Amino acid sequence: MTTLAQPNLDTLKASVRGEIVLPDSSNYDEVRAIWNGMIDKRPSIIVRCTGVADVKACLAFAKESGMEISVRGAGHNIAGTAIADNRLLVDMSTLRSVSVDPDTKTVTAGPGATLGDIDHETKEYGLAVPMGINSTTGISGLALGGGIGWLTRKHGMTSDNLLSVQIVTASGEVLEASETENADLFWALRGGGGNFGIVTRWTFRAYPVSMVTAGLIVFPAEERKSVLQQYREYAPSLPTNSPVWVVLRKAPPLPFLPEEVHGQDVLVVPFCHNGDAAAGMKIADTIKSFGNPVGAHVGEMPFAGWQQAFDPLLTPGARNYWKSHNFTELSDPFIDTMVEYASALPSPGCEIFFGYIEGCCSDVDPTATAYSHRHTKWVVNMHGRWQEAGDDEFCIQWARDLFAATKPYAAPGVYINFLTGEETDRIKDGFGPNFDRLVEVKSKYDPDNVFNLNQNIKPA
Ligand SMILES: Cc1cc2nc3c(=O)[nH]c(=O)nc-3n(C[C@H](O)[C@H](O)[C@H](O)COP(=O)(O)OP(=O)(O)OC[C@H]3O[C@@H](n4cnc5c(N)ncnc54)[C@H](O)[C@@H]3O)c2cc1C
Repeated sequence: MTTLAQPNLDTLKASVRGEIVLPDSSNYDEVRAIWNGMIDKRPSIIVRCTGVADVKACLAFAKESGMEISVRGAGHNIAGTAIADNRLLVDMSTLRSVSVDPDTKTVTAGPGATLGDIDHETKEYGLAVPMGINSTTGISGLALGGGIGWLTRKHGMTSDNLLSVQIVTASGEVLEASETENADLFWALRGGGGNFGIVTRWTFRAYPVSMVTAGLIVFPAEERKSVLQQYREYAPSLPTNSPVWVVLRKAPPLPFLPEEVHGQDVLVVPFCHNGDAAAGMKIADTIKSFGNPVGAHVGEMPFAGWQQAFDPLLTPGARNYWKSHNFTELSDPFIDTMVEYASALPSPGCEIFFGYIEGCCSDVDPTATAYSHRHTKWVVNMHGRWQEAGDDEFCIQWARDLFAATKPYAAPGVYINFLTGEETDRIKDGFGPNFDRLVEVKSKYDPDNVFNLNQNIKPA
């Protein structure tokens, strides 16, 4: 571990307002923990930033001391890019304020805000920002990579709804980026990841969303193929305010499922209709008619509540390994492969998630923002999740084998927010046709690659 010279540390202490956490601090282990329990890294120093001045002080300190940095939002990235051994962790998770302007339908959020923090404030005005589906995820990593969820079909990716950003660049300059200010940087921040600086403030567009008709319909293992075949026709036939997704997993012990189903292989169809409740219930009835559901939990509920529906299955601390492909069609052989691997889940936490996102975000030109995968209809996440380190090899191998077996059916490209740390060879695919332009922007704003712990774009 890098040992800090005392004068250097004293300079840092004098220049920041936030808490400094060191390896001998009593809260060091608590503060360095991130969502994926497989990541166990020991930074030399953690600064829990209180604002722009602390971020600038961290960057100045890093330059003077030669210590590399990492940047953390809410610490959800599966690759664990928020943290590394022997670095200075610039911790933005402390900056969680959110404010809503109901007149302009705009939302300003701190870089450490979680999706739940934002929903908590916007719900007061019957508004929502299009974001992801787990409330403890951080807005920063999510928006920098794209951001997909229940409102994507109707209103676009999180990054499509970004209006402006305040960011501290590698040189310590504080810039505003929007369509009209530093437009090249703004373009890169909408899908280019954490390559360009440290975001200190986000401003998004929000939409009227309050009560939705949503829920889960659960089918038995033997109906998975037939339900998937019907689903692939039905989901695209619905209007964009009615996304329907699919999850293949073992049934959790949910109260609306009979006890004998708990722990059995099932197919879950989650849906969320933002509109007339009667139309939403009709969607539920159609989905139920795909087979003989073993349970269903459907009804009207606040959107902010539905945004937390998956939280109990995604608690922090478990060991996680993901593989992901994009798809434009779900062919019969592909469905067969999925069902085969879903019948051999290596642990009760593992699941295969199909996010159906085709809609208004598909109409955007792939080069209009750094996120380019506009052809994608389904983003599929093969989510290995388990508790014990002794099961690492077995569970990781399942995800890798499934990834390889479904590769022939996949579309080009990959969603960068689902990449694991070892997949550096997929980063270029993650940026698709925008890679060269991203290299140009990177070279302009971060020529020395100060921000290198991410889905890294190396400067020219
Ligand atoms: C349980 C779970 C559910 C998820 N669900 C969804 C979903 O529904 N939809 C979806 O699109 N994605 C989803 N994701 C993926 C998610 O988008 C990424 O993991 C994202 O990186 C999380 O952001 P974070 O701020 O929490 O990450 P962190 O791990 O804190 O940060 C990830 C990277 O983002 C960059 N970064 C973070 N903060 C800043 C900042 N202030 N300035 C500059 N760079 C910064 C850094 O490069 C950092 O390494 C999910 C992830 C998890 C673990």
